[in-house]
Amino acid sequence: MIPSFQVFDNDINLDTLNYYLNCEAIAVDTETMGLIPRRDRLCLIQICDDQDHVTVVRISQELAQNIKSAPLIQQLMEASNVTKVFHYARFDICTLRVHLGITTNPIFCTKIASKLARTYSSRHGLKEVVKELEQIELDKSAGSSDWGSTYELSDQQLKYAANDVRYLVSVKNKLTKMLVREGRYELAQKSFGYLHTLVELDLLGYEDLFSHQ
Ligand code: MN
Repeated sequence: MIPSFQVFDNDINLDTLNYYLNCEAIAVDTETMGLIPRRDRLCLIQICDDQDHVTVVRISQELAQNIKSAPLIQQLMEASNVTKVFHYARFDICTLRVHLGITTNPIFCTKIASKLARTYSSRHGLKEVVKELEQIELDKSAGSSDWGSTYELSDQQLKYAANDVRYLVSVKNKLTKMLVREGRYELAQKSFGYLHTLVELDLLGYEDLFSHQ
């Protein structure tokens, strides 16, 4: 068992790795200096299971820019028996790849799942999806904080960051039921499987390889 909220620097510990390795699915989110992975360094990685065990990992500038490795996080992100759940995985798996050399797998993206299952809505942001499926109002006020001051972040700010992963495994389970009901579960799986190719294209600068232009 691990604490319900813990903070690490630069990598998780073995207890935490072994705990999450026994989970079927874990939610993962990252906070960065901005939206361009090769420009903007990784600052935080947040992880949570479906039992509300939150882990926040602070990533130093030195690690993200020079060392570029976090072996235990890598082992967890690449563990084939643990599904990593993201909201907009395209960004997070790209930043984990660029800064830590991690190839995250297997992946479930709640944004893709929401677009495929909740076709009655045009609102697929994390806040809207969590509000509808979990009846919880997410506090996103810390969303565009200066995460670069990693070591000065208060516990309160780190807890805000954790909100982005707290409900995600439950959201995944609900969206999975909807996808199965609507006959789109396999399409969702194939879409998740395509994400690594898409990230490779993103990193090469292709904006829409499939467009006519
Ligand atoms: Mn976040």
